[in-house]
Amino acid sequence: MTKPHKEVVVSGMRPTGKLHLGHFFGVLKNWRELQKNYICYFFVADWHSLTTEYAQTEVIQKSITDIVIDWLAAGINPDQAVLFVQSQVPEHAELHLLLSMITPLSWLERVPSYKELKQENKIKDLSTYGFLGYPLLQTSDVAIYKAKHIPVGQDQVAHIELAREIIRRFAHLYSTNILLEPRALLTQGAKILGTDGRKMSKSYDNCVYLSDSVETAHKKFMAYITDPQRMRRQDPGNPDVCPIYGFHQLVTPLGQVEEINKGCRSAAIGCVDCKKNLLTHLNASLEEFRDKRKALEKNPKVVYDILKEGSLKASKVAAATLREVRSAMGMEGYASK
Ligand code: SF4
Repeated sequence: MTKPHKEVVVSGMRPTGKLHLGHFFGVLKNWRELQKNYICYFFVADWHSLTTEYAQTEVIQKSITDIVIDWLAAGINPDQAVLFVQSQVPEHAELHLLLSMITPLSWLERVPSYKELKQENKIKDLSTYGFLGYPLLQTSDVAIYKAKHIPVGQDQVAHIELAREIIRRFAHLYSTNILLEPRALLTQGAKILGTDGRKMSKSYDNCVYLSDSVETAHKKFMAYITDPQRMRRQDPGNPDVCPIYGFHQLVTPLGQVEEINKGCRSAAIGCVDCKKNLLTHLNASLEEFRDKRKALEKNPKVVYDILKEGSLKASKVAAATLREVRSAMGMEGYASK
C-alpha cells in the first residue's frame, strides 16, 4: 500500500506477560498511526525477553500469542505493517554477532539502563553476556531493516545514540553507508498510572490488563487510588494528581473532561461517580477491541498465519541487508563464489 513516508520504522515489544492499558494507550495507539504513514516492522522481541527471563522461558512462549492477539485486536493491521517474532528471523542474531566484533565493551557498559536494571533487579542474576549485549541486539534489530525512525520514550534515547555510534563505526571501518543511523521518534506516550498511583507496570502488580473482563476491570477501577489528599466526599480534589482524571483525558469527550476538572476542584462530584462515568467511556472505547480479542482467542491459527507470513517478509529484507554487510566486511565466504 502507498504510504506518505517511504522511511522504515521498527519497534518491538518484549513478551513477558499480558499487555495492559498502559500498552494500549501508550504504545499501540501510536503504532496504529505509524502504520498508516511509514513502512513498519513490529516484532515480538522474544530474544530480548530471554536476557532477563532465561530461567523461566515458559512465560515467553505463552505471552507471544497473547500479545499479538492484543496487537491485532487493537488495530495493528498486517496489511499495513509487517508483524513477526524476532527469533523467527535469525538474521538479527547474525548481524548482532558481526556488530559485536566492532563494539567496544565500554560502550555497552556505560548504557544507563544497564547498571540501573542490574541494581534494581536483585532476584535475577543479570551479570550475563546476553544482558550486557541487549542494546547491541536492539541495534541489529533496527539496522537490519535500515530503519530511519525508532519510536521511543525519553528513557530509551541512550540506546538510539549507541546504535548510531556503532553504525558510524561500521561505516568508518568498512567505508560504506549501507547501514542507516536511526533517529529517535520521541513519542508523547500518555502517562498511564496503575491502581496504586505509580506507573502502570506488571512488576508493581497495579495493572488493568487488556484481557481483563469488564467486571474485573470495573472492580480494579473502583479500588483505584485517586487524589490522596481528597479524604472525604466534601473535600475539593486535584485532578492533576489523579490517575482517574488521566484516563478521562484519553477517553471522555472534551466538554465533559472540563466539567469533571471543575467538579473535582469544587467537590461538586465525588470519586465514585467520577469513576463510574469513566468506566462508561472506557468500556465504549474498548468495546471493539474486546470483541475482536474474543474472536481471535477462539481462532489462534489466524495469529500464527500472520506471524509466519510476517517472518517471511521480514526475512527477505533482513537477508538482503546481511548479504551487503557480509560483503562490506569481506565475509561472504565460498558460498557466494
Ligand atoms: S473526582 Fe475524579 S478526578 Fe477528582 S479525585 Fe476523584 S476520581 Fe479523581
